[in-house]
Amino acid sequence: MEYQCNVCRARVGADMIGYLDHTEKHVIDLVKHDHPDWVEKDGLCKKCLEYYRSEIQGSIFKDAPCALRIRKTKNVLEKIGSLFKSGKGS
Ligand SMILES: [Zn+2]
Repeated sequence: MEYQCNVCRARVGADMIGYLDHTEKHVIDLVKHDHPDWVEKDGLCKKCLEYYRSEIQGSIFKDAPCALRIRKTKNVLEKIGSLFKSGKGS
């Protein structure tokens, strides 16, 4: 049985995580931030799960709201940075 990961679009076999329990709620929040169309029942592959887990672990308080905040701040900084690079907004 082969699945397609709706997060990274990779085709995966048995490594697809179809069900995320409550402890993965933080992961879900982050995935939804990156992929607004994604829903929990789509599942995600092991790689994606590990990626988002490591992102949460990298945040100071090991908490998704914190990881989300860091990410949003990063986005704003990148936008400001690109304004300086291009000289004007898109
Ligand atoms: Zn994936």
